[in-house]
Amino acid sequence: MPRPLFSSSIAGSLPKPDWLAEPDKLWPQWKSAGAALAQSKDDATLLWIKAQEDAGLDVIGDGEQSRQHFVHGFLEHVEGIDFENKVRMGIRNNRYDAMVPQVVAAIRLRGRVHEREARLLRAHTRRKTKFTLPGPMTIVDTVADRFYGDRIALATAFADLLNQEALALQADGIDIIQFDEPAFNVYPADAADWGVSVLERAAKGLICTTAVHICYGYGIKANIDWKSTLGDEWRQYESVFPALAASAIDQVSLECVNSHVPAHLMALLKGKDVMVGVIDVATDSIESPEQIAETIERALQHVPKDRLLACTNCGMAPMRRDVALKKIEALAAGVALARQRQSEG
Ligand SMILES: [Zn+2]
Repeated sequence: MPRPLFSSSIAGSLPKPDWLAEPDKLWPQWKSAGAALAQSKDDATLLWIKAQEDAGLDVIGDGEQSRQHFVHGFLEHVEGIDFENKVRMGIRNNRYDAMVPQVVAAIRLRGRVHEREARLLRAHTRRKTKFTLPGPMTIVDTVADRFYGDRIALATAFADLLNQEALALQADGIDIIQFDEPAFNVYPADAADWGVSVLERAAKGLICTTAVHICYGYGIKANIDWKSTLGDEWRQYESVFPALAASAIDQVSLECVNSHVPAHLMALLKGKDVMVGVIDVATDSIESPEQIAETIERALQHVPKDRLLACTNCGMAPMRRDVALKKIEALAAGVALARQRQSEG
């Protein structure tokens, strides 16, 4: 079946119900443990699969209900990392502090990382599925290194572990594997220099669709404050898009609506599918279908119609659950309107 026009999906994360974890937090505490927690994660995943289907999204994800945080959820399954003794570290070029685990020995996977939720997702929707993993450069920026002593060496080591899990996710039946690389916008020169090639290493050998999500972060205060320092034109993408256009990665997810990213930068992604952010995750106000259709139409000036996919600007983990639900409904309604306008010419 051909892909629907402006195929819609969320960037990745969705809020966790308050019976699963503390609401409105980026690093929430789980509300249960052991088998009860595993069951609660499954239940929350099923609930969001249904909500995405009911809204009418074309590509369905697990909403990252099974991981505490998009990076540390992966690290918990890695040997050589000390989670007992977290340290405070400025992350994203010291934009905000986080308590991060430490790399203390050579890293390797303990086993599968996301098998349970990936198979649950595959078993419970007939639509295309997307699964997210943190990108190697962003992992390196969210962990304290006490062993490798070199960012590229550590990122390369993580890329090999990510590749191992990505190949297994593909075998689970996942259609699109997306790596989240917000760090690309923090270190744009490094991203072009080595970030993209290390990312390709993480995606090596995948025959499913591959994607990368590059954003200006969750809608939390530290990020909103940072964005206000970036000036009228955010040109971070300008460094990394040419490298991505020349890479083996199939799709690129970027921030668009309410951002100061010059729309013409999207033209640098020639030959790639462009996932255009049409939903702002930094505000609780719900986009109207007209607004979303207009964002898509603006992007169409720089992206061919059959290459344009509709997405959220970023993950919705720290949002209110009711707001996130309304936003995914809005996304589907906006895409439906944009399709209708296209067919009317
Ligand atoms: Zn993001």
